[in-house]
Amino acid sequence: QVVTRFAPSPTGYLHIGGARTALFNWLYARGRGGKFLLRIEDTDRERSTPEATAAILKGMEWLGLDHDGEVISQFERADRHAEVANQLLAEGKAYKCFATQEEIQAFRDEARAAGKSTHYRSPWREAAEDSHPDAPYVVRIKAPQEGSTVIKDEVQGDVTIRNDQLDDMILLRSDGTPVYMLAVVVDDHDMGVTHVIRGDDHLNNAARQMMIYDAMGWDVPVWGHIPLIHGGDGKKLSKRHGALGVEEYQAMGYPAAGMRNYLARLGWSHGDDEFFTDAQAQEWFGMNGIGKSPARFDFKKLENLCGQHMAATDDAAVLHELEAFLAATGEEALTDAQNVVLRKALYCTKTGAKTFPQLIEKSRFALASRPIDVEEKAAKHLDDVSRGILKELTPHLQNVSWTRDELEATANQFAEAQGMKFGKLAGPLRAALAGRAATPSVFDMMLVLGQDETLARLTDAAG
Ligand code: GLU
Repeated sequence: QVVTRFAPSPTGYLHIGGARTALFNWLYARGRGGKFLLRIEDTDRERSTPEATAAILKGMEWLGLDHDGEVISQFERADRHAEVANQLLAEGKAYKCFATQEEIQAFRDEARAAGKSTHYRSPWREAAEDSHPDAPYVVRIKAPQEGSTVIKDEVQGDVTIRNDQLDDMILLRSDGTPVYMLAVVVDDHDMGVTHVIRGDDHLNNAARQMMIYDAMGWDVPVWGHIPLIHGGDGKKLSKRHGALGVEEYQAMGYPAAGMRNYLARLGWSHGDDEFFTDAQAQEWFGMNGIGKSPARFDFKKLENLCGQHMAATDDAAVLHELEAFLAATGEEALTDAQNVVLRKALYCTKTGAKTFPQLIEKSRFALASRPIDVEEKAAKHLDDVSRGILKELTPHLQNVSWTRDELEATANQFAEAQGMKFGKLAGPLRAALAGRAATPSVFDMMLVLGQDETLARLTDAAG
């Protein structure tokens, strides 16, 4: 069974790169009937905060990236990490190193002066147990000194590292606490992780982590180190480029399905497919579709996909997510009446809206109640002449059956009789019905509002 995991360090919000890593692992597991686990790498006690953990969980929840099992705290597993280091010690695959900081520094200075590698070579590696002093020590792994280590990476291909580049890395500090590198390996092993997809800034760690796998005789997981995300200009991602916490995307009102679709496309592709569902992404996702060069963050594309998802999502789900958006941004909840009319309006408002604020804006006519508040841009469509026109039009709408065909025919006939283009009539109608210059089509608004409300608004506007 495939088991993947997301292993964020809780030192800040869940940023867009982390969210993508989580998504890739989620897609990989979900598409293969596997498990997707969540481990909080909170061993850095100074920088880890409960707020950051909460933000990560919230961000994942918003994105719909559900994980299996309990959230695992790496810090709480410190005893187990130490146990593994001690096992390696007992098996002679690690050793106690009593070198002092001064000795290590002296070694480095000398090596540098001689133009040699400054990787520390401890004399304690070969020392006999009975020569050990009664002094503080660290536990170091015996790194291979000859040959090379090959990291089999499903994204990068085989990456070969010369073993003389590896040092006898510390596993346990002198206070007995395990180092991060050991914790990652032990946790991934104990959690049964079969596939690790993570940023390629961890590629160097992989070589060092392999030493521990080899020493323990454990299977190495399949690795996929993915290139980082860059800005649209190809430079390192910064805030200006979209390096924001996912909660900021939530606050901007992007639908989560569109966000998932976009993040999936950020560094992964499936032929020419741009717009797809979760089910399709899960079915298609694999390491072979992951690109080798950094993906570029592109707001336009994000918005475009979000618009397509908004239009393709069924009404109940759109409304549900809109309500969650209002709640998350601290805005007033919809009343039951607003809910009903909003739902009625969705067929003409959800197409073209890329975000929830845009959806709300397009739904203003439906949410508004009389007297309609007219914005400045729309007010110029309600001058004396226009009001006169509305006054004449209103009786024509009194005895029609309230269907699109009839409404269109009536409006066109009226415009023709007045010797004006229908377009001239649209501005005043938008202003009267919605109080705005940009709205869904006037006929859609009339159909959603119904005859009584439409006539009342026209009469109000005609004055
Ligand atoms: N905690 C690491 C990070 O947030 C991830 C380590 C890993 O995936 O192995 O970058």
